[in-house]
Amino acid sequence: MVARYDADSAQHRAFVAATFAPDAMRLVSAAIHSDIDCMLYVGVNPVAFTSARSMERPPKPDAAPAEPEGCLVLFSGGQDSSTCLAWALERFERVETIGFDYGQRHAIELACRQPIIDALKSQQPDWAARLGPDHLIDLGLIGRISQTALTQEIDIRMLRSGLPNTFVPGRNLLFLTVAATLAYRRGLNVLVGGMCETDFSGYPDCRDDTIKALQVTLNLGMDSRLRIETPLMRIDKAATWELARQIGGEPLLELIGELTHTCYLGERDQRHDWGYGCGECPACELRRNGHARWRAGLF
Ligand code: ZN
Repeated sequence: MVARYDADSAQHRAFVAATFAPDAMRLVSAAIHSDIDCMLYVGVNPVAFTSARSMERPPKPDAAPAEPEGCLVLFSGGQDSSTCLAWALERFERVETIGFDYGQRHAIELACRQPIIDALKSQQPDWAARLGPDHLIDLGLIGRISQTALTQEIDIRMLRSGLPNTFVPGRNLLFLTVAATLAYRRGLNVLVGGMCETDFSGYPDCRDDTIKALQVTLNLGMDSRLRIETPLMRIDKAATWELARQIGGEPLLELIGELTHTCYLGERDQRHDWGYGCGECPACELRRNGHARWRAGLF
């Protein structure tokens, strides 16, 4: 058994707990809650756990030069994923995009994707050079096997579980798994998603723990070193507007306001200062309030 970790006490305790955990679930739990750098189990079934920290380490001096990182951005056509796409274009040499048609009521967001891509390319020559193919995947299966206000014509309301009925169980898990499958084929080693647990609708598959656990699972299941980046995880909607301003200034803000789509009801007749939408659904409410707080400097 070989282990590599920083020898501060918290990590050491987590490492010991993970090493001697009697079952896989405790092992994964210890890994995702500890920032353990890297554990290699050498034996009949070699297994590697990786975390974001291990990928951020500079290569050893005698190691071969690393391949430039390439990423696949989960890009729905909304404000968050468009901001993430611009964020990725600032950082990665190769950027591709993936979107999902899952029978969403607001399928109009899919029609927004290509104009956003075209506009991003025209804003900065660097971005045009880096942005590769867009992939649209049919996941209509989700709409057929789930019963939610995002995939059926029913009113949006809160459930006894405390979650809104716009929650589509398994959606982000499936999205990321399918994205990982595509990234594997395309030779892309980073997935970028707009999941956020700071200012959100309470969806459990947007939580950082969920994403980290899935990263571990995907790497175990595909014997890969894939990293999932979620640049919006720790910031609220006001800060998301500010992030867009910092990345692309006024042109990017105008692009997001005019071209992206967030409204769950697919409303694009009403233009507000924060973009198009009904102004009343939970998605519009988050976007509207975030914009108001950003305008007020509250980020
Ligand atoms: Zn709306």
